[in-house]
Amino acid sequence: MAMGLVRVAERASEIGASALQIFSDNPTAWRRRAETPPEAAAFRLRIEELDIRPVAIHAAYLVNLAGPDDDLFGRSVEMIRHELAHAPEFGARFVNVHVGSHRGAGLEAGIDRLVDGLERATDGPFSGPDAPLLVLENSSGGGYAIGSTIEELAMALDQAAARGLDGQLAVCLDVAHLWGAGYDVSRPDVIDRLLEEMDRTIGLKRLVMIHMNDSHSDLGSRRDHHAHLGDGQIGRVGLAHFLCHPALSHVAFYLETPGAENGYDAVNVARLGDLAADRPLTQGPASELPA
Ligand SMILES: [Zn+2]
Repeated sequence: MAMGLVRVAERASEIGASALQIFSDNPTAWRRRAETPPEAAAFRLRIEELDIRPVAIHAAYLVNLAGPDDDLFGRSVEMIRHELAHAPEFGARFVNVHVGSHRGAGLEAGIDRLVDGLERATDGPFSGPDAPLLVLENSSGGGYAIGSTIEELAMALDQAAARGLDGQLAVCLDVAHLWGAGYDVSRPDVIDRLLEEMDRTIGLKRLVMIHMNDSHSDLGSRRDHHAHLGDGQIGRVGLAHFLCHPALSHVAFYLETPGAENGYDAVNVARLGDLAADRPLTQGPASELPA
C-alpha cells in the first residue's frame, strides 16, 4: 500500500512476477475508504499492459465469518461485501479470505455460521458469471481456526453448495498453513495424497490459488511463521513438488514470504525459477538470509 498501486504493478513485472496479491486498504483496520483510490484505474490498466493476472485481493485480517459474536460477524460480512464490490475496480479476479475461527463454539456451529456469512457476503450483485470469486484459505489450526484439514474445507464447501453458492466460491491452499496443521508437505507422497483427497472431496478445479510459503514453525505446531522459499522446515523438495505438479497447472501461485521491502520479493520469485529448474537457490541481498 505504501508504495502506491501503479508502482506495485511495475515492481511485480520487474522481478518477474506474473500474478499479484494486494490489499485494497489497511489490512489491520475495519475502516474502509468510502471511495476506491483514484490510482486503481491506472493500476488496472498497468496490470493489463504488463500481463499480470490473476490479481487477488487479500481481505483484512480482522474478518471472521465463523465466530459467534454478532457484531464481529456483521462487520465481517460487510467487509467481504465491500471487497467483492470493489475487486473489479482493481482488476481482481479473487478475494482471498481465511476460513475463520469458531472461538470455542465448536466446529459444527462454526461451519454453520461461516456458510451463513458466505451466503450474506455473496448475495445479490456478486453472483454473476464475471463476479470475483471468494477464495477460502486453509488455516494452520491455532485458536479454534476452522479449515485446517481438507475434510473441514470440504464440509464447509458442501454446506455452501447446498445453498447454491457453488459458483462463487473457490479454495486457496497456503503451504505453510498445511505444514502447521500437520501435513508433512516436505514429502512428495504426502502432497500427492493430499491432492487426491482434495480432488475426491472438493475437486481440484476449485483450487485456484496457492500461497507458496516456507515455514519456520514446527510440523503440526498449529503455528504459522512464513520463511523464504527453501530456508524453512518444508524445504525445496516439497515446494518444488507443488510448483511443478501436473495437476496444478491451472493454479496461480502467490508468495507471502517476508522482507519484500528489503528486496526479498525478487529473491523469492527468482527461487521459484530455481525450484522449477532444479538449480541452486538464489542468495539474498546479504550473504546470510535472516530468520
Ligand atoms: Zn496465506
